[in-house]
Amino acid sequence: MTAAPLAPHPPYATPGIAASTVGLSKVYGSGDTRFVALDGVGISFREGEFTAIMGPSGCGKSTLMHCVAGLDSFDSGSVRIGTTDLGTLNDEQLTRLRRDRVGFIFQAFNLLPTLTALENITLPLSIAGRKPDRQWLERVVSMLGLSDRLGHRPAELSGGQQQRVAVARALVSRPAIIFGDEPTGNLDSRAGAEVLGFLRDSVRELGQTVVMVTHDPVAAGYADRVVFLSDGRLVDEMARPTPERVLDRMKAFDARSRTS
Ligand code: ADP
Repeated sequence: MTAAPLAPHPPYATPGIAASTVGLSKVYGSGDTRFVALDGVGISFREGEFTAIMGPSGCGKSTLMHCVAGLDSFDSGSVRIGTTDLGTLNDEQLTRLRRDRVGFIFQAFNLLPTLTALENITLPLSIAGRKPDRQWLERVVSMLGLSDRLGHRPAELSGGQQQRVAVARALVSRPAIIFGDEPTGNLDSRAGAEVLGFLRDSVRELGQTVVMVTHDPVAAGYADRVVFLSDGRLVDEMARPTPERVLDRMKAFDARSRTS
């Protein structure tokens, strides 16, 4: 099946780059409790690419994702989504940017229990006062294998199905970029593999840009590239990762940090 082109979203500042940072720094606390969570991170996320962010606990993965997604403020440097420089936006504009241009998938699914799968999928559009594009909605729902589950409430769905609903909810507005925070952290390995396969399909078939934080080399193996963070800095990058190569790289980092 050849992918129909995505609806145009505003042009990218640099052709083919969905989001990017330059010299991004974030400091928590002050004085004795001052902690540099991000230390001059420069990274680009190419359009239609699946990136995994990895690194030891506390290295700044979530902070980076939250800053790029407009969920968290930063102290210096810049973040762009498309042509939009997040540093120039006020709170209301940031809220609108997150709503219209960014999709999120959380470890805990975050579906509303009283709504059906279909209502959960279309909720962000309803809140924005937009009507779903029927054809696109059907394509997303059928790609995710949810066509016969749309009337079910979350409690009537398995964990894997619930996360597929969350993936559909992220995809339905055709955001410039989707962020996943350990999206398979609450799933068993079979359901996790299924969700990761669908995330990869959304990149391959729909041209979606996806960025996922994970600590799992198997999950990272679904991505087109892996970037490694350590102490708030970008320290390495791997193209076309496999779980084995990712694991080897993580072991090498561990050995280096033990000897330094
Ligand atoms: P990761 O996602 O890689 O585990 P985080 O981005 O969550 O790391 O956190 C990076 C560092 O910043 C950690 O050392 C964490 O303790 C610290 N940190 C995160 N949020 C806060 C906060 N609100 N106040 C103070 N320190 C924080």
